[in-house]
Amino acid sequence: MQEVTIKKDSSIKLEDQMFEFLNPKFIFVPIRKGFKLKVRDNEYVYKNDIIAMDSHGHAMYSSVSGRVLGLKEMPFYKEGMISSLVVENDFKESIRVRKSAKKYINSYTKKELLRVLSDTSLQYKDTYISEKVSSKCKTILINGVENEPYFGNKSYIFKDNLDELLETIDLLGTCMKASDILLVVKNNEEKLIGELVSLLGTYPNIKLKLVNDAYPNGMAEVLKKKFSSDETIVFDIVEIGLIFETIKREIPVTEKVITITGDAVNPKGVVKVKLGVLLSEVFVTKFNFTEEQVDVYMNGMLSGNLVNSLKVIVDLNVDGVLVMKHTEQEIEKCIKCGLCSKNCPMGLNPKYVYDHDGRVKKEYYDKCIGCGLCNYLCPSNIDLRKIMNGSDKR
Ligand code: SF4
Ligand code: SF4
Repeated sequence: MQEVTIKKDSSIKLEDQMFEFLNPKFIFVPIRKGFKLKVRDNEYVYKNDIIAMDSHGHAMYSSVSGRVLGLKEMPFYKEGMISSLVVENDFKESIRVRKSAKKYINSYTKKELLRVLSDTSLQYKDTYISEKVSSKCKTILINGVENEPYFGNKSYIFKDNLDELLETIDLLGTCMKASDILLVVKNNEEKLIGELVSLLGTYPNIKLKLVNDAYPNGMAEVLKKKFSSDETIVFDIVEIGLIFETIKREIPVTEKVITITGDAVNPKGVVKVKLGVLLSEVFVTKFNFTEEQVDVYMNGMLSGNLVNSLKVIVDLNVDGVLVMKHTEQEIEKCIKCGLCSKNCPMGLNPKYVYDHDGRVKKEYYDKCIGCGLCNYLCPSNIDLRKIMNGSDKR
């Protein structure tokens, strides 16, 4: 595998200050298979109230206070339409019990930590964090590398919360009895590296590791290959931020940061939003397209997807949108350049799958991490990632 430096437009810069959009008119809570509603139409709900629960005790919460309007089919990234409970925000942020923040989180025992993580049903990218924390591992690897070009969620999280993040990483290391804790950041983040080096004296168990600003160095599987063995659990730095917020107050996560950027949008920046907000509402309130014809990529242009609408509910799978001036891309014949197979981080040959579509075993496709590097490099604009996902029905 070779590292690939992505050509970036240096005029695409995020605003220094984080934006906020925490007062949506409505929020939409997905009621996925196996979940049962715990509230009725017209009922008043407080912020952090349980809206639905499954048989394992996993809960879905309201991120605002207000009135329950009923169920409506709403679009979610990757999952498509899901029946969702609509809550009309009363903008009061009313909470049943206001909890005081813990002064020090390092007093948590593993049992207490697991209790809080499961009581709040904290999950990240479809995995319950309590399950990760209860698994055995030798190494904890913290992914602090922004994967997608132009995105800035991780930089903003690092910027405001370095002490809290390190405290949380240290706590996880102790509770999970990890022999190694590796924190990986890009080697061109001089300011962050300087701050980390001075703070890590207090956290001798955490080792700083650096990677080049190259793609796909922000993907968990790639970092695992570079730095550790099989018994490694990877936490994203965004995930660490969510764990800190949860255990500090013992309340569920109701907000997240997303990036809105690109050469066809203004302003560009990181925005803190409520979970369950409609992305188009965030967009029209704070941002504008600067071109008539744009290409919108949900979660970025490499590992994300080109979408035709911003009508998507923000959940923990949404990292942001990249809005670029529209470009026409004609699909041409493969010129057998070999760039796709030479650079695949998982050592796969997407060109072979392209040539033998439908005749390649599922186990081979399963190794694809969906980084999209093959698509980016292909001079013939062939959608190899889609083929690797097994979804091309040519
Ligand atoms: S999308 Fe899959 S096949 Fe393409 S480069 Fe990434 S891992 Fe390899
Ligand atoms: S990168 Fe594209 S053109 Fe080159 S071998 Fe792969 S599929 Fe063919």
